[in-house]
Amino acid sequence: MGTNFHLPSTLEQFQQQFPTEEACIDFFFSTKWPSGFSCPNCGHSHAYITSTRRLPLYECLQCHHQTSLTAGTIMAGSRTSLHKWLTAIFLISRTEQGTNAVALSKIISVTYKTAWLILHKIRHAMSTADQGTLLSGIVQVNSAVYGKPYNPYFRSHPQEHYLLAGSSLNIQGEPSYIKLKLVPKIHVKEKLFQRSATLDFTQQHIESHTNNIEFITGRFSSKRFRTLLAYAAQAGKSINNTFHGIGQKYLQHYLDEFCYKVNLTLHKATIFQHLTHLCTVPHAKLTSFNPENTPMCA
Ligand SMILES: [Zn+2]
Repeated sequence: MGTNFHLPSTLEQFQQQFPTEEACIDFFFSTKWPSGFSCPNCGHSHAYITSTRRLPLYECLQCHHQTSLTAGTIMAGSRTSLHKWLTAIFLISRTEQGTNAVALSKIISVTYKTAWLILHKIRHAMSTADQGTLLSGIVQVNSAVYGKPYNPYFRSHPQEHYLLAGSSLNIQGEPSYIKLKLVPKIHVKEKLFQRSATLDFTQQHIESHTNNIEFITGRFSSKRFRTLLAYAAQAGKSINNTFHGIGQKYLQHYLDEFCYKVNLTLHKATIFQHLTHLCTVPHAKLTSFNPENTPMCA
């Protein structure tokens, strides 16, 4: 990362900073290999570069393994330019507004289907990184509802989705990593979270040796983890603003996107750089969220 890197804050600034495919290739390179090329096969630091192809090909001088910026990543095999990918990454990185496939397809001049697929793959990278990151230490979890602001009836509305909002706490007792996870309806009876819901969440999202876990799932419980409920409410609002109502099928991905941004912000990391890094990590290594792993800009 050059020391003169400034984070673009508007699309115009982004386009000025990354006007060409070459500028984007350089950025992906320095994000993937912050201390210079490193062979994914043997770790050697020197490569022969073939630039005649659409994307540079790097051949390791030691083991002759050939690799590229996109090999094994969510971008592998894509015919979309890195410039368009980076534009999508930039747009989805913004916290004040998200992006959707309709908007993206217009900005980067691709079909709706291509734009949808790009966003889907970027979200997939975020979700995968989150799956490998378990809550630990002191963990608090509160039940929440997404979809309908208030429904006094015992029977749930089809647009109501049950969530468990969980977090690890730092020494100050504030959330240091959050998760918002949909709870399958089989775990909720007449709006009451069954024990299976919390067991399931514990098994999937909390480190196994953690013994300081507190769940609040009672519908009329007077104790609440207000910060977690506030995150759940904020997620609902931001998802509605960007997607104008969506089905359950992709809701978890959108919740993961929301949490990904919150978590990077809690760690004072730069979303645009971290997400670019995630997109250059081969699938097999996309196993955890680690903001300390990526170069940060000043
Ligand atoms: Zn090698």
